[in-house]
Amino acid sequence: MHKTIQNLINIQKKIDLGLDTLTINKVPKIIAVSKTFGMDKISPLINHGHLDFGENKVQEAIEKWSDVKSSNENIKLHLIGGLQTNKVKLAVKLFDFIHSVDSEKLAKKISDEQKKQKKELKIFIQVNIGDEQQKSGIHKSLVSDLYKYCKSLNLNVVGLMCIPPLEKPSDIFFKEMSVLNQDLNLNELSMGMSSDYLDAIKNSATYVRIGSDIFGARG
Ligand SMILES: *Cc1c(COP(=O)(O)O)cnc(C)c1O
Repeated sequence: MHKTIQNLINIQKKIDLGLDTLTINKVPKIIAVSKTFGMDKISPLINHGHLDFGENKVQEAIEKWSDVKSSNENIKLHLIGGLQTNKVKLAVKLFDFIHSVDSEKLAKKISDEQKKQKKELKIFIQVNIGDEQQKSGIHKSLVSDLYKYCKSLNLNVVGLMCIPPLEKPSDIFFKEMSVLNQDLNLNELSMGMSSDYLDAIKNSATYVRIGSDIFGARG
């Protein structure tokens, strides 16, 4: 069996074990974060039946996924990295989910482009939950306003997303995210990476984004 498949199965087992001790309404999905890896590494997972994949750069994703996606309509592609407004057209064309909406300007552009392409993506609002200057995401105090604005554009906002500060334990940030998500009555919550996905599911994550634990270290 290919190493990446074994890795994915091991992660799934750890999640299942974690879930045994929790009362959870929704089984979290694993997004296999394939950024920087080529189709040679990715296709064993596709052949195994895995459907959710994450990329952080629009151009890289187009080169890697355009053909594969048109021949396998069940694959769901998640944009997990920052999105510049000049790339929105291409992003809306390729992706099924965008996890990084953090401004009204970006929301408006996505809404306009979706109308043109007659397509509706699932949207996450990215929250800068550690209030870090260098990080993207909207401040937690402004999440509710951005959410309302997105709704006024008829964007299909399914949940919130965060990348907590690297050097601190993620748990408190995940707890805060879970509360924010509940306050807005949202069903999905995108948080947890290779280092902290078990903490994320304890705090009701419904999508965990896992790269290196599946594909190995990035170069
Ligand atoms: C790269 C990336 C991940 C995956 O990180 P790993 O530590 O390799 O699991 C998750 N989320 C985002 C936004 C990323 O850019």
